[in-house]
Amino acid sequence: VSAPLPFWRSKTLDAMTPAEWESLCDGCGRCCLHKLRDEDTGKLYFTEVACRLLDTATARCGDYANRASRVPDCVQLTPGKLRDIDWLPPTCGYRLVAEGRDLPWWHPLISGTRATVAQAGVSVAGRAVRERDAGDLEDHVARWPGQVPRRARPLPPITHKKQDNAA
Ligand code: SF4
Repeated sequence: VSAPLPFWRSKTLDAMTPAEWESLCDGCGRCCLHKLRDEDTGKLYFTEVACRLLDTATARCGDYANRASRVPDCVQLTPGKLRDIDWLPPTCGYRLVAEGRDLPWWHPLISGTRATVAQAGVSVAGRAVRERDAGDLEDHVARWPGQVPRRARPLPPITHKKQDNAA
């Protein structure tokens, strides 16, 4: 008898409980880095400058409960928003599951610890630049927040299509 599939493989994003949804976040902090978009071409550029609430030593939000009121453009992810967002990093747990991939070895739901997110080179802890130290964002454009670190490769293959994200 094979083991039942974990919730992220068996449920659609819309059917997950709030706790399941939250647990898809690996806490990497990459989405908390500022992005720039070229107004003419629409091209997206990642920077290594963190939101002012992010603790750059731990990659944790300094005020998670109140982040929406303290940083009005903080995006609180929902299944609906996920379909329209193009700036989540390729390692993001939400993006992986929405793409029909399994979670990788370093995701806390697989490894049982957040330490593996740093071991895989996915966490921004110790790597991001604090907003108050940054100056011009244009001076901090970086490719690594949009890339899969060598230690985090390969990402799991696409295994199935989700009904609610197939379009
Ligand atoms: S990029 Fe995805 S997995 Fe990483 S902190 Fe943001 S929501 Fe969580």
